Order: sequence, then structure tokens, then C-alpha cells
Amino acid sequence: MKRYDTIVIGAGASGLMATGRYRDRNILLLEGNDKPAEKIKISGGGKCNITNQKVSVQNYLGDPAFVGNILEGFTQHDLLRWFQKRGLAPVLRKGTQYFCPKSADELIGVLLHEVKGVSLLTGQRVVDVTKEDRFIVTTNRGKFSTEKLVVATGGMSFPKIGASAIAFQIAEKFGHTIRTTRPALVGLTLQKEQFWMKPLSGISLPVVVETGTKKIAGDMLFAHRGISGPAILNTSLYWQKGQITIDFLPRFRFDKKCFMHKKQISTVLPLPKRFIKAFLESIAVADKPLQNLTEEEQQKLMQLKSYTFASAGNFGYTKAEVTAGGIATDEIDPETMMSRKCEGLYFLGEALDVTGELGGYNFQWAFATAQRLRL
Ligand SMILES: Cc1cc2nc3c(=O)[nH]c(=O)nc-3n(C[C@H](O)[C@H](O)[C@H](O)COP(=O)(O)OP(=O)(O)OC[C@H]3O[C@@H](n4cnc5c(N)ncnc54)[C@H](O)[C@@H]3O)c2cc1C
Repeated sequence: MKRYDTIVIGAGASGLMATGRYRDRNILLLEGNDKPAEKIKISGGGKCNITNQKVSVQNYLGDPAFVGNILEGFTQHDLLRWFQKRGLAPVLRKGTQYFCPKSADELIGVLLHEVKGVSLLTGQRVVDVTKEDRFIVTTNRGKFSTEKLVVATGGMSFPKIGASAIAFQIAEKFGHTIRTTRPALVGLTLQKEQFWMKPLSGISLPVVVETGTKKIAGDMLFAHRGISGPAILNTSLYWQKGQITIDFLPRFRFDKKCFMHKKQISTVLPLPKRFIKAFLESIAVADKPLQNLTEEEQQKLMQLKSYTFASAGNFGYTKAEVTAGGIATDEIDPETMMSRKCEGLYFLGEALDVTGELGGYNFQWAFATAQRLRL
């Protein structure tokens, strides 16, 4: 059995960056897929949304003290400088989001360059880890022995590109608590009462969604299976059960003057025609001049400002960008990323119970944890 000082499992965002930092050691990087960084390749619509101009603990679900500590150690500015120094200058798009100029391959190229010369074995799906005096890592192809083990295998979303629950299995085996995992940054499915939205597939509009104490502004997209788009994906991070409320007219106010209009509802309201037609049908109100609405009809129409309903569920791990929940962070030393349960065992990235919003926050997290690693 080959012996190493350190084995890193997972050649994704955090695993590649962490391995690069320790490339001078007797280190092995194990990857289950035939190629490294498959998730990075498809991220951000193929351009990889690396980070965001504005990053704070408020953009994350997780223990604020733990998250803040790690993000402060390697900020978005540090990350941008890190890539710029290596010849990649991310560009701002969609307001505050940083993307690769051309494609995610540019970022993958930089990360792979960092691990040049390191033993990288692909097609090695880790199935088990045991420990006596050293860790024994068992893959579908063999066994490897190591003094230190870094688990950087991410979450369970997008299983078709190799995602697995191995981080949680290893963590549990060594005594860690796993906070309930669930798909997040994912579209939501509808109950029967909201099926009027189904034929609207393809329509996108700006909304404000309220769930619990969170108010999320952004675009919403009607999809074949339910509702999606940035505002809904972010909602899915905070929503677990119960109702959400959507303001379909965030820049419009229903006042007295509005109900004196001689024009038809669909002409006055700044909404896509197909949308307003389907909505009016669902509340059984005809598309007529606003001044002709009864008080009851006015009330029904004003639901557009606070349309409240309970989503049936979500599109699941096959469509989710991330896994919320994960390894409890109070059992990880934030100064080193080492397990407080098992000497020499480290966890990075998405596998931890920290999840970012849409907008580059999850790569920022993965890279920040890789920089915090102290072997
Ligand atoms: C479609 C999509 C788009 C996304 N877009 C963005 C975006 O633009 N911006 C953003 O910030 N975040 C985005 N994300 C989320 C982001 O990709 C992840 O949060 C991030 O990659 C997590 O980094 P990580 O290092 O923890 O894990 P990953 O990058 O997922 O890397 C884990 C690696 O471990 C390997 N692995 C898993 N199981 C095993 C095993 N048993 N044995 C061996 N190897 C294994 C995997 O194959 C993978 O290579 C997106 C996610 C998806 C699915």
C-alpha cells in the first residue's frame, strides 16, 4: 500500500486550491471522476461566478462567528488578487458578481497549474476510510495510507457529475454530527392551487419574495416543473416548510388613483400579458377597466403585491446547485479546519454546514476554507 503524508479527497474548488498550497509535501489528490473540477466547469452557466463584490456573513446560512472568521481570513479581494497574480482577471457581470472572462476552463487551468507535479489520481471513488495509527483510504481501485486526511468532496447536488455523500459518511464515522442536509439554490414545486403558473414556463419577471424574516429581491422564472430564477433559488436556501409571499409588482403601488383608471387591468399593470391573463383567470376576475372593479375584485387583484402560498417541495438534488446543512461547524477548529473529533482529519468547502446565496458565495466559501487549512 502506498504511503503519503497527506491525502486530499476531491479535486474540486477547495481540494485543488488546498493541494496547491501543500504541493511540496508527499501529497496525493484523489478524484472520483475521470476529470478534476467537473462542477466548476458547469458553474455560472459555464463561466463560473467566482465571487462577489459584496461578501458578508449575511449572505450565508451557517454559524455567523465561524463563517465570519474564515471569510475574513481570505476575503473576496484576496481571492481576486490570488487569481489576478496567476493571470486570470475576473470580470464584473450582473451587478456585483465576478465571472471568468471567457469560460470556467480559465479558472480550472489556474487551479490545475497550482497542482502541477502533485500525484493526482482520477477515477478513484473513495468508498471508505478507517484509522489505526494512520488513515487507510479505500477507493474502487485500491487502498492508500496517509498520516493526514483532507476531505474536500463537496455536497450531494448534481450526482450525475460525481457528487456523493462521502464527506458526511466519513464525518459520521469519526463521530461528527451532521446537520440535516437538503437541496438548496433550487427551484420550488407547486401545489394544485398554483398550477395556473405552469403554462407560464419561460416567463421571467422581477419580484420580491418573503420567507420567514428574509426578503429577497430578484428575477423569478416560471419553469415547467414549478418556479425558479435567482429570487426563488435564494428563497430555497432559507425556506424549508410553510408559506412564502411573492410581490409580483415590487415597483408598483395600488392606490386610490389606480382604481380610477379607465384602462383595462392588463394595460395598466406592468406585467407580462400572459402572466396577468393567467393570474386573473385564477382569481376569477375579468380583464376589465380598473374603475369597474368591485371592492372584492380590488382585494383579489391586490394579491399581486403579497401572493402567499406554500410550495409543495423543490426540484431535488439533480437540479440543486448546493447542499444545505452538513458537518456541524462547532466540531471543526476554524483556525486549522481540523476535526475536533479526530486528530489529522480535516474538512473543507460545501460539506460543512455553511451555504452561501447565489452570486459566487459558495466558491468564495470553498476557496476561503482551502486557504484556512493548516496541516
Ligand atoms: C450547476 C451548478 C452551478 C453552480 N454555479 C456556481 C457559481 O457560479 N458560483 C458559486 O459560487 N457556486 C456555484 N455552484 C456551487 C459550487 O460549485 C460548489 O459550492 C463548490 O464547487 C463547492 O466546492 P467544494 O470544493 O466543496 O466541492 P466540489 O467543487 O463539488 O468538489 C468536490 C469534488 O469531490 C469529488 N468527489 C465527490 N465524491 C467523491 C468520492 N466519493 N471519491 C472521490 N472524489 C469524490 C467530486 O467529483 C468533486 O470533484 C454551482 C453548483 C452547481 C451544481
